[in-house]
Amino acid sequence: MNVTRIDVTSERRRYTVLIGADLLSTLPALLDEHKLSGSLLVVSCPPVWRLHGKRLKGLADDAPILIPDGERAKRLPTVSRIYEVMVERRLDRAASLVAFGGGVVGDVGGFAAATYLRGIRLIQIPTTLLAQVDSAIGGKVGVNLRAGKNLVGAFHPPSLVLCDPAVLRTLPRREFRAGLYEVVKYGVIRSRPIFDRLQSSLPAIFAHDPQVLTPIIAECCQIKADVVSADERESGPRRVLNFGHTIGHALEAVTKYRRFRHGEAIGYGMLAAAHISVARGSLSRDDESALKALITQMGPLPVVGDLSIREALDAISLDKKVIRGRLHFVLAKGLGDTVIVDDVTTRELRAAMRAVGLRS
Ligand code: NAD
Repeated sequence: MNVTRIDVTSERRRYTVLIGADLLSTLPALLDEHKLSGSLLVVSCPPVWRLHGKRLKGLADDAPILIPDGERAKRLPTVSRIYEVMVERRLDRAASLVAFGGGVVGDVGGFAAATYLRGIRLIQIPTTLLAQVDSAIGGKVGVNLRAGKNLVGAFHPPSLVLCDPAVLRTLPRREFRAGLYEVVKYGVIRSRPIFDRLQSSLPAIFAHDPQVLTPIIAECCQIKADVVSADERESGPRRVLNFGHTIGHALEAVTKYRRFRHGEAIGYGMLAAAHISVARGSLSRDDESALKALITQMGPLPVVGDLSIREALDAISLDKKVIRGRLHFVLAKGLGDTVIVDDVTTRELRAAMRAVGLRS
């Protein structure tokens, strides 16, 4: 089996990310090899467990904890439920929590692992494209509050991340596409070759051709690993990962997180950021057109024509990327590089949002 191994450095430990088609068929051996075969608690959600639970059968003595599906489960009462089971099962500090699911399971399970007994080991087995290329790596875990997304959390690096693209075959097309926008982001911020391969191989990617998809996932994991190894706590370089996220988050917020999958909002956010980049001369019109063409080719995005620019601007002013009153904004510098600026004006934001279709 062809397995790619990537090492991530974090403040607390180095950990490994393994990527390989059908990697999960050798799971017990992998855990042994990484000295993680003590007592295990699996956290998952019903759809993932129904479709793929058999891949983990026999791994843990006890039944998995299945949290409700979807973003609404990403809240403190879900974490409390996990703690209760942990206590019932007398899990001690030598135990590991296995988060088997998309970004929601990873974030919630990860937060329970970060806080139970002040932290037990976490094994991430991401099952969405977004979780494989993004959320399972980097150690950010947490939950939402009524007041906003990801307001409570921790940095709790996993001990091991296992990405098996074979599980993505069952992912609904819209979810797959939502993850693919993050792949486009990696192309724009760090890798022209990834961008070019997306352009040339989109049908093979949507067909889950392992020869095409697995290396792309591995390259995205490598980029995320490099970025978070250099700046785990997002004090500087990690901010490049926010390309497309300022306006993307605003679109999610003004639609109360109901209209867009996260990646879809980032699709619009990247187009808007590209618009500002062109206006400032750091991106050519040809590159902007290539980005637009790729995003259009990937499939339809939810409509934005009814959304007000003013409300989106209000949401931006509450964003976490506003530090001491200044908005840190990631612009594209050609395809494959970025520049972070803190002087994007309201006028530029307004023009960019108008360009992607919001109403004045
Ligand atoms: P998700 O976890 O809600 O999963 C999306 C849907 O896909 C769910 O219905 C799930 O049941 C289903 N699913 C998962 N795997 C499947 C499979 N293999 N086959 C069929 N269905 C499957 O959503 P997501 O997009 O994976 O993650 C979004 C979350 O990730 C958000 O809460 C976001 O805030 C978080 N996130 C965290 C980080 C981080 O660094 N921690 C980074 C980005 C996003």
